[in-house]
Amino acid sequence: MSLIVQKYGGTSVGNPERIKNVARRVIETQDQGHGVVVVVSAMSGVTDSLIKLAREVSPTPEEREMDVLLATGEQTTIALTAMAINAMGKKAISLTGAQAGIVTDGVHTRAKISDLTPKQLKQYLAEGYICIVAGFQGQTKDQRITTLGRGGSDLTAIAIAAAVKADLCQIFTDVDGVYTCDPRVVPTAKKLDEISFDEMLEMASSGSKVMQSRSVEFAKKFGVVFEVRSSFNHNPGTIVKEETKSMETVVVRGVSIEKNQAKVTVRAVPDHPGVAARVFTAVAAANIIIDMIVQNVSHDGTTDISFTLNRDELPKIEAALGLVVKEIAAKALEIQDGIGKLSIIGVGMRSHSGVAAKMFEALSQAGINIVMISTSEIKTAVIIEESKLAQGANVVHEAFGLSK
Ligand code: ADP
Ligand code: ASP
Ligand code: MG
Repeated sequence: MSLIVQKYGGTSVGNPERIKNVARRVIETQDQGHGVVVVVSAMSGVTDSLIKLAREVSPTPEEREMDVLLATGEQTTIALTAMAINAMGKKAISLTGAQAGIVTDGVHTRAKISDLTPKQLKQYLAEGYICIVAGFQGQTKDQRITTLGRGGSDLTAIAIAAAVKADLCQIFTDVDGVYTCDPRVVPTAKKLDEISFDEMLEMASSGSKVMQSRSVEFAKKFGVVFEVRSSFNHNPGTIVKEETKSMETVVVRGVSIEKNQAKVTVRAVPDHPGVAARVFTAVAAANIIIDMIVQNVSHDGTTDISFTLNRDELPKIEAALGLVVKEIAAKALEIQDGIGKLSIIGVGMRSHSGVAAKMFEALSQAGINIVMISTSEIKTAVIIEESKLAQGANVVHEAFGLSK
């Protein structure tokens, strides 16, 4: 008997009718002769409203308590899904992350899975149960409830698929698969039949939140091929897998945008060894996650160092760098808000030239100014005004012939 792991996201379990739809689909899969493990998210909007609730009782809720709170979202869904399946005359049982054997480190709200021994899960499967596992959560060795970061149910599904050596891992969501760009941003975006782990990872980590980026990293590491598809129809989805030779013939696979970025510039820092190290050691010590870094050419023995980060990280910057700026005798600390990142991604970039030029040309024709540029082997990203992101995504998407 083959074993299938299916994950249903928040919208797919968003109301009782949709939970019953999931129950029917799961039963259909079992009726075809497969063992089924189902990972579910919290019903859509629930995680956000729990976060809001927490803020209403405390300005700085402890991360440990946040995890206890947020884990309840997925717990509601596992119970309801199991009930729905049982009511349809089949055998289902719900399991929390801990019961499914997901052990994590102790980094609350963004824990990493350190071990996964699905003993109970295997036992229930052997007894013919459909197992419904709570996504997004785990437990530390000393039994503290943890969560795996936003979108973390994707990671639960991929990790369980790896641990039970599933024959198939399906991520059911509210779109037909992975598109050349978020179809809500670029209406002419096309569904991809397949995409490589590396491209999916770059897209996910540059703003295409259709998959949690850490889940893709995990899938690549453990070779878990998976399919992203819709829970609302039976259309085939997108297969995410190891790169094949033919994938390189496509120059740009997709376009991603990321809102809520900010740029920090340390103005006129003395241009000598150790200065950049001082700045970024202080940033790292404050646990601030940064993205692009640019150091400009030196004039009169000083230079500007700029970097980008998520706007939410800004409140920590002043505290982290205020003193350092004085110590290194830099001129000022400047912050620019209201910017975003536009990226193009494709393994074909390795073997094609003129890719960046084409992107910049398309943006220039649309009158969009580029604030910063960064490139990697399979990605070119620019920082532009946040209000121009959607327009930029559309013109770049069109320029590379990705539209329908
Ligand atoms: P789920 O709740 O099922 O996990 P998400 O909201 O996390 O669903 O992810 C699905 C959403 O991701 C889609 O509705 C779509 O708007 C968005 N999205 C962003 N980029 C892409 C992309 N490249 N392809 C498909 N969907 C995308
Ligand atoms: N419920 C969590 C979130 O909204 C996890 C998930 O949906 O994957 O981020
Ligand atoms: Mg998601």
